[in-house]
Amino acid sequence: MINYPELKRNLEKRGYKASVFSVKEEAANYLQEKIVKRNIAFGGSMTLQQLGLYEKLKEKNAVLWHWHQTTAVLPLAQQADVYMSSVNGLSYNGEWVNIDGTGNRVAALIYGPKEVYLVVGRNKIAPDLDSALDRAKNIAAPLNAKRLNADTPCAVKGDRCYDCDSPGRICRVTAIFDYKPNGIEHYEFVIIDEDLGY
Ligand code: SF4
Repeated sequence: MINYPELKRNLEKRGYKASVFSVKEEAANYLQEKIVKRNIAFGGSMTLQQLGLYEKLKEKNAVLWHWHQTTAVLPLAQQADVYMSSVNGLSYNGEWVNIDGTGNRVAALIYGPKEVYLVVGRNKIAPDLDSALDRAKNIAAPLNAKRLNADTPCAVKGDRCYDCDSPGRICRVTAIFDYKPNGIEHYEFVIIDEDLGY
């Protein structure tokens, strides 16, 4: 059982805002009401897709997402007003982890748009930083490799990381966020008590 008030406090101590929702529809409505007339960029995320956020937010905003456009839009994402993503692992203490292949997502999350929202399902929450790293490496990355049909040993079953040397390796940058990066003004976790993404 996750103690959400305590998780929220732990994130707030590290400089983030945090909002907690029971179901994804409530979280999607919250973001749709809050973000209007902005330029928004999306990092690759199954969670954002499951919330239908691209479709919802594009009604009243300009939204860039290379999943719906082309990778040519990637550099433009750094100049957006708002960046949205998920995480690969969030520790109960408030540290979190993302693993990237290109690095565009972690770059934007460290020093890019001035407003960031991270949408996180309960399955991403781990007891501590080591377990958050382990889930990012051995759960999130292999399942992403499988989804992308990558030419890597983990993509066959999506079962675990084999620490491959494959040219198709999707894990090339592992970012650990200890506290809110100073250059980003509004950094908010939108936490949902449902399993979302991987
Ligand atoms: S390092 Fe290689 S085997 Fe491990 S998860 Fe990444 S792509 Fe898969």
